[in-house]
Amino acid sequence: MYRIGQEEIDAVARAINTHDFFKINNSGCEVLNFENELKEYLGNEHCLLMSSGFGALTSALIGLGIGPGDEVIVPAYTYIATALAVTAVGAIPVIADIDSTLTIDPKEVEKKISKNTKAVIPVHIMGFPCDMAALKAIAEKYNIAIVEDACQSMGGKFKCEYLGTIGDAGAYSYNYYKIMTSGEGGALVTNNKKIYERALIYHDSSAVAFFGSQLDGITEPIFGGTEFRISDITGAILREQLKKLPDIISDLHKVKFNLIEKLNNKSLVAPTHDSDGDCATTLALRFGTEEDCKNFAVNCEQDGLGVVIPITTGKHIYTNWTQIMEKRGALHPAMDPFKMKENQGLQMNYTMDMCPRTLDLLSRTAYINLHPDWSDETVSNIANIINKALN
Ligand SMILES: *Cc1c(COP(=O)(O)O)cnc(C)c1O
Repeated sequence: MYRIGQEEIDAVARAINTHDFFKINNSGCEVLNFENELKEYLGNEHCLLMSSGFGALTSALIGLGIGPGDEVIVPAYTYIATALAVTAVGAIPVIADIDSTLTIDPKEVEKKISKNTKAVIPVHIMGFPCDMAALKAIAEKYNIAIVEDACQSMGGKFKCEYLGTIGDAGAYSYNYYKIMTSGEGGALVTNNKKIYERALIYHDSSAVAFFGSQLDGITEPIFGGTEFRISDITGAILREQLKKLPDIISDLHKVKFNLIEKLNNKSLVAPTHDSDGDCATTLALRFGTEEDCKNFAVNCEQDGLGVVIPITTGKHIYTNWTQIMEKRGALHPAMDPFKMKENQGLQMNYTMDMCPRTLDLLSRTAYINLHPDWSDETVSNIANIINKALN
């Protein structure tokens, strides 16, 4: 969350004052308008606003028809929700190592592809863009789908294309910790009609069949799904947040480039697949050793600058994905993908040391979380703390 205030308060009042803020068949049309405004912003054909990023990821996988018997490749460094979206549809997550940009390594993806692989989920973690060109080439070569987890990267780009719009489908999260927010929320975007129709049916199975004309023109057969519905109050907040997004991203970039400019040792800045396209929420510095990284963090903290070393961020690292590592993938053994007969023989031999590069890189990287409202003076102060900490 970066900027929220009176505009969002007024939007909530606007939605409530209609006295009919169900998502459809209403007068306010906040959700519908948000979906249209997001499509326009991204240049995308289909968009579904729903209750979470997890819901959007799951709906995308369901949209692709992925389920038992299928493998989906996910990075070793991402929030656990990415892997749990795979088990939620009955498929098996195959975990791949990351590259020096902290995003999934296309070479590792290629190594993990088997005859059962149906998709890869590149995650633009901390707004760092994945190498979408290399991933697209691999996906085409092996005929697998790409579902982008853009939950942390709304508004970011890879080579001028919006993150989340490059693969077959993309998922955004609007929970409190994300770049734009409504407290909770998520969106699925795709240009693929079949994915859209199946995700529509899945994400709101009861209302879709009952309310309004949502199934008009839909050719996919209806099936039983779940409910990831949101209200017009959420839609109203997000419409205001979307208006603020371009300025948030451009101000974050100004802060990032200003800070880098003021660093004495610019070679510490971690590599990226697109320095102009990333979300600039975070500056990542890379050290030669874990000890150097820790010393840097201690020095910064003594001067009042908080530093995060990503190896300490719990459920973002595969070694801490208890449910996956211990293979408890569902609420009932008969629904557990790790126990299903369709999945026997698939790649699910998880070990703590299977992605050593991830563990190494995350333990010698330091994050400085940036803020779009920092003044030049604040940036100078922070640069001084960093420069001093490196002495
Ligand atoms: C936040 C997040 C999610 C899940 O989003 P929710 O809206 O909390 O369900 C998934 N993947 C990544 C990388 C995230 O950061």
